[in-house]
Amino acid sequence: MAMNRVQFQPGLSMAEFMNRYGNDEQCEAALVESRWPTGFVCPACGCGHSSSFRREGRLYFQCTACRHQCSVISGTIFEATKLPLSRWFLAMHLLTQSKNNVAALELMRHLGVCYKTAWLMKHKLMEVMRVREEPRQLDGRVEIDDAYLGGERSGGKRGRGSENKVPFVAAVQTTPDGQPQFMCLRQQPFTAEEVAVFAARSIAPSATVVSDGLWCFGAVKIVGAEHERVVTGGGKASTELPEFRAVNTVLGNLKRALSGTYHAFDFAKYAHRYLAEPQYRFNRRFNLSSILARLLRAAVLTSPNPASLIRAAEVGR
Ligand SMILES: [Zn+2]
Repeated sequence: MAMNRVQFQPGLSMAEFMNRYGNDEQCEAALVESRWPTGFVCPACGCGHSSSFRREGRLYFQCTACRHQCSVISGTIFEATKLPLSRWFLAMHLLTQSKNNVAALELMRHLGVCYKTAWLMKHKLMEVMRVREEPRQLDGRVEIDDAYLGGERSGGKRGRGSENKVPFVAAVQTTPDGQPQFMCLRQQPFTAEEVAVFAARSIAPSATVVSDGLWCFGAVKIVGAEHERVVTGGGKASTELPEFRAVNTVLGNLKRALSGTYHAFDFAKYAHRYLAEPQYRFNRRFNLSSILARLLRAAVLTSPNPASLIRAAEVGR
């Protein structure tokens, strides 16, 4: 059997991680480098000249032209954090390198912080991933399917279930030989209106979308995409059709990774973020060794999200 090139890639080992980001000075230097790769630029006036100083241990830059002061974390998702940067880096490392999802409870144990803090860190980082994935568009051949998470019946196809079941759409762009390439997930009901919203955001006009007979998927044509409908008998047999091999593989892995990791209520309330995390990781799965640096770059470019916003479930829907 051929080696799976995702599973067997070296990634960023814990030893290498500790080497690069083992203490707060290293993390601070990495953050500055990621945020201002060509040197500090004043966020107020754009001037490139500054002096620096420390206040309560935190590094600040002061603009020479307008005297604006800016800490290395202000204006990023780390803004106002009381935690050492090394904890944040460890959280980013665990969330990007683990094979399975790391729940807030596990993060709490690894980081030695309280549950509330771990939960908030995880959600802030998931929000970074969601924002980063928002503009992604699938093109070429795209398999699309509807699914539920939380108490789905065998095969995960539509059906009635518990009230915490989250309906979502999974779309997978395939290579010419049918391998999954990129994916987009969106929590939504299975209506033509919502499929049209999904398509407008995530499907390129030049794509060819393959779906089963569920009528609402015809709405992908609204963006100009081709639509191929493969009418199946439904039930378990339809999950084994070659036309849907990529999306079914992805959905199978997703369900295995997510089942049991999250509390059902939490998942239902914040599904937009819980789905963004596996999407972000999947779409970068061939580059495990650089994913932390890329998440850091996204984190310093993402505006701060206060806890109150993070707890508001409607953000980003
Ligand atoms: Zn300035």
